Amino acid sequence: MPLTARHAIAICTGSRPALPELAGLAEARPWTNRQATDSRAVPGRLAIVGGGGVGVEMASAWHGLGTSVTLLAQADGLLPRMEPFAGELVARAFTDAGIDVRIGVTVTGVRRPGGTGPVILTLEDGGEVEADEVLFATGRQPLTGDIGLDTVGLEPGSWLEVDDTCRVRAVDDGWLYALGDINHHALLTHQGKYQARIASAAIAARAAGQPVDPAPWGAHAITADYHAVPQVFWTCRASIARPASSSHNTVVAIQPHRSPSSPERSAAVKAFTACRSAGAAAAGPSVTSRATPSRSNSTGRGESAGGGRARAARETSSRSPAPARCPASAAAIHAVR
Ligand SMILES: Cc1cc2nc3c(=O)[nH]c(=O)nc-3n(C[C@H](O)[C@H](O)[C@H](O)COP(=O)(O)OP(=O)(O)OC[C@H]3O[C@@H](n4cnc5c(N)ncnc54)[C@H](O)[C@@H]3O)c2cc1C
Repeated sequence: MPLTARHAIAICTGSRPALPELAGLAEARPWTNRQATDSRAVPGRLAIVGGGGVGVEMASAWHGLGTSVTLLAQADGLLPRMEPFAGELVARAFTDAGIDVRIGVTVTGVRRPGGTGPVILTLEDGGEVEADEVLFATGRQPLTGDIGLDTVGLEPGSWLEVDDTCRVRAVDDGWLYALGDINHHALLTHQGKYQARIASAAIAARAAGQPVDPAPWGAHAITADYHAVPQVFWTCRASIARPASSSHNTVVAIQPHRSPSSPERSAAVKAFTACRSAGAAAAGPSVTSRATPSRSNSTGRGESAGGGRARAARETSSRSPAPARCPASAAAIHAVR
């Protein structure tokens, strides 16, 4: 039954895993984040392709369940959209814990001979990795392929570029909005909710013929997407670090695993609370976790690496600096076990 909207339509269809184009991939039955979180069996060996959020969290989780984990990341390392020290800390901690972390690796082929048994990954350098299962944590793609975007002049399957009120730029008359993952700003639940609040206010103002305030930090602008996107990665065994060299004043890595009353634990809680407050100031009270300092976070969790940081720098530098009430991007590596 067709529904007719008088004022606006908001598309909020989210994203799904993006898999690389590799011969034999479908036959190898790879895991995506779905199977990685609902598998009932613990594989003896798990290869994980991708060092973003999904990659590091799943490495930690499956290692904790007794799986022998090999984590394969490209040259930009683990957590490539965070400041480099964060991924370096996690890589060191993982290695110490017994996870086989390989940086600078590109997978060029995959096969599961006979359709059963181990899966074999071919690497660019000619090497191979054999595992019982392989998880591809290699990015996200927008779920916009089958909703009729072509009928309004948009490319099916594309991310939808929006203005600061979440209105799709390429559609005339300003009636179409895109919120959440599909606008590719920051692929995180709390950012989607934040966008929903801002866009709802803008839609209501426009419908009522009231002024719209899309200036940075105005009532109808998603400015926090560019400046304040808190994020937590849940991994094992990182260590406390607040690097003096950090250009971001809120980047913290924490390790509370020793004892609930240890100084580390207190520092962890303090840092996490600060991180939440930073997010709450800009994104509202429902901050849960995960974010990058950037817009165009091509995959909040394990997306195609590269480009994100440069894009962030480019896009952020083209905008006015954040006012004092908005802290710089906050990131916490919250270690648990
Ligand atoms: C493994 C993983 C872990 C994550 N962990 C976190 C985390 O800890 N914290 C965090 O903030 N973010 C996390 N994220 C990101 C977070 O899940 C997304 O950013 C968030 O769900 C995006 O919200 P959304 O509303 O845009 O899309 P979704 O939550 O994906 O919702 C889209 C909805 O639209 C529906 N839909 C799609 N197509 C159609 C259609 N044609 N017709 C009708 N309905 C349709 C879908 O069924 C779905 O219900 C994680 C993501 C992954 C993959």
